[in-house]
Amino acid sequence: MIIVLHEEQATEMIKQLQERFSDHHQVFVHGNRVAVQGIAPADLTMEQREAATELITNVPKAVQASRLFHPEDTVIKTAHSIIGGGHFALMAGPCSVESADHVMKMAAVVKESGATVLRGGAFKPRTSPYSFQGLGKEGLVALRKAADHFGLDVITEVMDDEHVPLVEEFTDIFQIGARNMQNFSLLKAVGKTNKPVMLKRGMSATVDDILNASEYIAAGGNHQIMIAERGIRTFDNKYTRNTFDVGVVPVLQKLTHYPVIVDPSHAAGHTEFVTPLALAGVAAGADGLIVEIHDDPAHALSDGPQALKPDQFQEMVKKVNVVRTALTAAE
Ligand code: PEP
Ligand code: MN
Repeated sequence: MIIVLHEEQATEMIKQLQERFSDHHQVFVHGNRVAVQGIAPADLTMEQREAATELITNVPKAVQASRLFHPEDTVIKTAHSIIGGGHFALMAGPCSVESADHVMKMAAVVKESGATVLRGGAFKPRTSPYSFQGLGKEGLVALRKAADHFGLDVITEVMDDEHVPLVEEFTDIFQIGARNMQNFSLLKAVGKTNKPVMLKRGMSATVDDILNASEYIAAGGNHQIMIAERGIRTFDNKYTRNTFDVGVVPVLQKLTHYPVIVDPSHAAGHTEFVTPLALAGVAAGADGLIVEIHDDPAHALSDGPQALKPDQFQEMVKKVNVVRTALTAAE
C-alpha cells in the first residue's frame, strides 16, 4: 500500500510509519509518499489514516519503479547528458570496441551527430563461444579515451558481477544486456554503485519482468535507471532480428518514471530497417536512442549487418530531429 500524506504532517508521519512497520515490512519513502509492502488500510491507526490524502492499495511489487510511488519523471544527469523528463538522449557507437583507432574514429562520428553518449562493448555476450568476445580492459581503456577526447559519456556492457568494479572505473553508464536482464547477482551489484544503469529488456521478458528486474537495482539504493526496448522474440524473426515492441514505450512510460530508451539496431538486425524503427520509437515518445554504427560493416567484429555507416547515421539523426521537432510543435 502507498500512503500519500498531507504535506504538513509528512515529516512526523513518515517517522511514525517507519517506526511502526519497518521491522516486519519493506518501507520506502519518496517525498510525501510512503510505500509499506503487505499492509492494508485497516493496519493503520485512525491518526495515520487521517494524515493521508490518499491510500493506494493496488500497488505492484516493483513499487519503487512505479509512478504510483514516484509520479514525476526520473532525470539522469551525467557529465555530458541529461536523460528523461523531456530531455532526449542520443547514444551511438560500434557494437564492439574493435581497436583504439577504430573507436576513436567512430567517436568523431558520434560527436558530429550531436549525440552525447558513446557506446561500445568490451565484454560481449555472443551466442557462440567461438565468436569475438570483446577486448576486455583494453577495450574499456580505448573507449574511455575516445569519449574523453570528444567530450562524450561512455556506456558499455557489464556481463558479470565480478567485473562491476573494473567497468565502473571506465564507464559513465552501465549497460545490462538483454541476456542478463534477470541476472540477479549482477543487478544487485550495479544496484550498489552510484552510476546510472541502462537495463535492456530480455528477449522474452514481459513488462512486469523488466520492472521487477529494475527493482533489484533500486533495492540496492541505485535509482538512476533507464529501460531499453531492443526487440523481443516472436513467431516470425525471419526478416527482422527481433520484433520491435513499439507499444512498450508508452506502456512503460505510464507505469514507470524511469527514462525509456529504444535500441532500433538489435530490433531490426538489418541496416535498412534501423532508421524506420528509430523513428517509430521517437514518435512513440522514447526518451532516447542507442544505435550501432560502423564505417566498414562487412568487416565489423560483431553485428555488422545492422550497423549504420556514418552517412546513414547522420541521415537518421536528421530524420529523428524532424520527428522530435514535429512532436514538440504539436504539444
Ligand atoms: C549490444 O548492445 O551490443 C547487445 C549485445 O545488445 P542486447 O543485449 O540487446 O542483445
Ligand atoms: Mn550489438
